[in-house]
Amino acid sequence: MKNITVIGAGTMGNGIAHVFAMKGFEVNLVDISESALERGMATINKNLDRMLAKEKISEADKAATLDRLKTSTDMKSALSSADLVVEAATENLDLKLKIFRQIDEAAPEGAILASNTSSISITKIASVTNRPERVIGMHFMNPVPIMKLVEVIRGYATSDEVTDTIMDLSKQLGKVPTLANDYPGFVANRILIPMINEAIYTLFEGVAGVEEIDTVMKLGMAHPMGPLQLADFIGLDVCLAICNVLYDGFGKSKYAPCPLLVNMVTAGKLGRKSGEGFYTYEKGRRELVVSPSFC
Ligand code: NAD
Repeated sequence: MKNITVIGAGTMGNGIAHVFAMKGFEVNLVDISESALERGMATINKNLDRMLAKEKISEADKAATLDRLKTSTDMKSALSSADLVVEAATENLDLKLKIFRQIDEAAPEGAILASNTSSISITKIASVTNRPERVIGMHFMNPVPIMKLVEVIRGYATSDEVTDTIMDLSKQLGKVPTLANDYPGFVANRILIPMINEAIYTLFEGVAGVEEIDTVMKLGMAHPMGPLQLADFIGLDVCLAICNVLYDGFGKSKYAPCPLLVNMVTAGKLGRKSGEGFYTYEKGRRELVVSPSFC
């Protein structure tokens, strides 16, 4: 495995591209938007500089990593020599199905097609391709260069060979892979997102404010970050999309997204990436948004 094509240069895609390039793979990073590619590369540069300052990598490592990274808005040509495709585009079922049809058509026959989806069925994604046995979930965690976990999700048709290859490859990237079967939310988000949604309900119902809720979970449960700050970090649109997948997939009211989450996403308050969510994010500083104004 040598050539990796990453589709989507957003929060996750640029991190995935960074990690593969740092480990010696040739990476093609693809997005529909030129500015997303520019932002993605700027983030990779910034993160490499941070690693350099901490003496985790040398100047030569940084230069070699950047040298192995190419960007493109032309998905078809970026796929022509891919051994592995990692799709990390927006969490939307129709979009992912459309992208996987395109990938299946343009990628070499033997290529493995992975999705970084947080919750969408791998079996469903695989069903629109002509190689369902070569489609798998490769769910990295945010921020990708730092977080050790990769949740590997086996679709209904995923072969043993492809599963073993992706488990081994994840280890080669310095990650710890865990295997899960293909059910809504897999393991990570089936547990995490209902907790975040409940934290938003706790705010919505006026039980406590943003800071209080996050403090309870940080100091009381030893979480490194409170659930509302984490939601901002993940992206509120992504949280809502996952909530909807759980709600549709299980049909249980306990997964229904909190109306406050729906409202905030509708209003474009997506968390850190839009500059405001439960907190505001300006010039690298995090400030609390006074919560009652939302409810
Ligand atoms: P994001 O909104 O930051 O980035 C998505 C990118 O996809 C954007 O740059 C957009 O321009 C691009 N895109 C949209 N349509 C495209 C197309 N047709 N072709 C190429 N690029 C396209 O989203 P994200 O947070 O990086 O999430 C990406 C995926 O990773 C989602 O499936 C999400 O569920 C998953 N994920 C997110 C997190 C997280 O913490 N944000 C964690 C794990 C997994």
